[in-house]
Amino acid sequence: EVSRLNGEIMLRQVNFSYTKEQRILKNVSLKAHKGQTIAIVGPTGSGKTTMINLLNKFYDIDSGEILIDGENIDNMKRSSLRRAIAMVLQDTYLFSESVRENIRYGRLTATDIEVEQAARLANAHRFIKQLPQGYDTVLTDNGGNLSQGQRQLLALARAVLAQASILILDEATSSVDTRTEAAIQKAMLNLMQGKTAFVIAHRLSTIRNADAILAVKDGQIIERGTHQEL
Ligand code: ATP
Repeated sequence: EVSRLNGEIMLRQVNFSYTKEQRILKNVSLKAHKGQTIAIVGPTGSGKTTMINLLNKFYDIDSGEILIDGENIDNMKRSSLRRAIAMVLQDTYLFSESVRENIRYGRLTATDIEVEQAARLANAHRFIKQLPQGYDTVLTDNGGNLSQGQRQLLALARAVLAQASILILDEATSSVDTRTEAAIQKAMLNLMQGKTAFVIAHRLSTIRNADAILAVKDGQIIERGTHQEL
């Protein structure tokens, strides 16, 4: 059940539009090797989210190719892609169930011990232990009784458990306290170890640590390189 993909990703001259009127991605080509972290930066509406959503086959592209481990995703099942790609978005859906079950959602067969190990790796264990019932604390609908930073730590724990070979992270833009911020940064680094990661990056530290940075504007990659090069 665990993803066996290496996580080599290639986009070749991808063109994409949501509607006939407007082309959103224009001739996007990129390559990510196994284990690399790619930071995607660019103004709002430039196409960053669209680019990563295409990896999940949420939409059909107009032309071009998207390959994972050399295979066109047209020939891959959505269910295999879902297992291979873990997503940590700005707003992760949390259920009105216990913290434990919310983390377990990453892999339903995980034992309680595995859930706790994942939470430790994601740096979430400390705040969870401080909740009234620890791992058994029941969340209100969509985690309303947690801060945004804490919700993101749970999303990271869920992603650790998923053991996916490809990671997509959309860094939160809203401010969190410095301690949670540090916990999230460390969790992200742990999580990205050995995986191919695309990070829609808002923090300079993330951009600095990336193997490559793609600057996107109006649906095109206008610059690429490392932090030193750009
Ligand atoms: P942000 O930083 O604000 O999240 P982004 O760079 O991720 O922006 P996208 O969300 O990829 O940008 O949006 C790119 C363009 O596609 C925008 O013009 C947006 O209005 C349009 N768009 C996004 N989703 C849809 C959709 N489902 N249907 C039609 N147009 C869409």
